[in-house]
Amino acid sequence: MKADVVIIGGGVIGAAIARELSRYSLNIILIEKEDDVAMGTSKGNSGIIHAGYNADFRTLKGQLNIKSNPRFDKLCQDLKVRFKRIGSLVVGFTQEDFDKLKELKENGEKNGIKNLEIIRGPKLFELEPNLNFQAKYALYAPSAGIISPYKFTIALADNAVINGVKVLLETEAKDIRTEKKQVCSVVTNRGLIKTRTVINAAGLYADEITKAVGDNFKINPLKGEYQLFDKQWGNLVNHILFPIPTKLSKGILVTPTVHDNLLIGPNSYQVEEKDDLSTTKAGIKEVHAGARKLIPHLPHQDLINSFAGLRADIEGRDDFIIEASKKIRGFINVAGIESPGLSSAPAIAEMVSDILKEVVKEISPQLELNYRDNFIETLPEQPRFADYLDKIGNWQEIIEKDADYGEIICRCEKVSKGEMLKAIHQPVPARSLDAIKRRIRAGMGRCQGGFCGPKVLKILSEELKISPLRITKKGKRSEILKTKAKDMIKETGVKFKDEVRI
Ligand SMILES: Cc1cc2nc3c(=O)[nH]c(=O)nc-3n(C[C@H](O)[C@H](O)[C@H](O)COP(=O)(O)OP(=O)(O)OC[C@H]3O[C@@H](n4cnc5c(N)ncnc54)[C@H](O)[C@@H]3O)c2cc1C
Repeated sequence: MKADVVIIGGGVIGAAIARELSRYSLNIILIEKEDDVAMGTSKGNSGIIHAGYNADFRTLKGQLNIKSNPRFDKLCQDLKVRFKRIGSLVVGFTQEDFDKLKELKENGEKNGIKNLEIIRGPKLFELEPNLNFQAKYALYAPSAGIISPYKFTIALADNAVINGVKVLLETEAKDIRTEKKQVCSVVTNRGLIKTRTVINAAGLYADEITKAVGDNFKINPLKGEYQLFDKQWGNLVNHILFPIPTKLSKGILVTPTVHDNLLIGPNSYQVEEKDDLSTTKAGIKEVHAGARKLIPHLPHQDLINSFAGLRADIEGRDDFIIEASKKIRGFINVAGIESPGLSSAPAIAEMVSDILKEVVKEISPQLELNYRDNFIETLPEQPRFADYLDKIGNWQEIIEKDADYGEIICRCEKVSKGEMLKAIHQPVPARSLDAIKRRIRAGMGRCQGGFCGPKVLKILSEELKISPLRITKKGKRSEILKTKAKDMIKETGVKFKDEVRI
């Protein structure tokens, strides 16, 4: 296999780069080691599009966040991804907190944010009636917003595929081969891809990839745990509420999600393993205690899920690494993309595109990167039953065209079979239960897949024409069914008194 550019990693950064580069006449391959895109940090985070007052204005984090933030309205409209610009409040209780808020405001203004405001007194409680009554001040940033980070990543990747990018799932980069200090191929578990340019967007594993070309940095995983409440609690807060940030993190926030759930978290602590996504009893306590400082009357019940994400923290550095390797031509690192990486993704992709142009000039001076004239900016609208609940007559018209839209498979999130079939056949196709869940929300609701799980499994098996035993929760080694009940009965010799139907 051959490509002009190989992108390693199908997180939000790899996907955004793939979409940006698909504007050019290039043969691009994105490889992702898991069975879907958005399987790393891009699925386990707060989903905030930050206003951009946190990071120092002299850093890439500060500059790229600010550049990206205004783009999200149009980008999400084009990609049919839900985005709500609900604004954020950093809440302070003491004079010391007030001084910190002033510092944040000044930094934000240096970054170029114009509409930051420190509010106090009754206005604070008009904006947030359930806020801790001891709160005195807040830095209000109307430009902050919320998004579903995995939906955004999938949409970027889908759009890249529509524009000619090949996404190879379950394809892991094992080595980078070089010749005369120039990249010549990527070795994967599925064979060799010949290429002269590689973009390393492997998230937590970017340090391992970069070793192959002799670049050196170390990534430590920093865990953040979350809890998600059922939809009836989404309106407990109107904005994204942050405490005063520390050097380590922006602190434990309370926010509604774009799908009207309530999200609290994350805490922050270093772990050994890059795949340790466990949630802990201590973490749950810490997150609750942190969130209660902002909203004391948090519900005790209706917690529907807890999850964790891992920050790709570069040892000894507090900024992204986005640069061409100084040792090997044709290799670009996009690493250490911690928060605000999601918020910065569009501008990171543009920066990488500019670096690539320089790299290409160096490798093949005669080659020019030309825009394709048929780049497709948008994804088509997909009908969602949940969006039609107050105009059910219109949904009837959709059912008349395709009866699969009349079969509801997930009652909690109101998802039809028609939507699921579309997800199985979209440009980056869903192959597992979790991939379906991330695309159409079947299994995201109160029962967390208890009712719809078996139906989703059956439809996946029928549509992909593979045995139900091979359907997985999230790719390799996560098969759901162990054996056919019939075979198990034969093997174990269990006898039932009454006739059983299998
Ligand atoms: C707790 C937490 C909260 C956060 N909150 C926010 C927020 O609210 N707003 C914000 O802007 N940012 C936030 N972030 C940061 C944001 O999530 C990240 O910046 C972003 O997701 C990084 O994306 P990525 O593509 O670099 O990494 P990833 O999403 O991890 O993608 C890397 C991909 O590379 C793949 N890969 C790895 N090795 C290989 C290989 N050898 N071959 C092939 N594929 C490989 C992985 O499987 C993975 O899919 C948060 C992060 C955390 C952890």
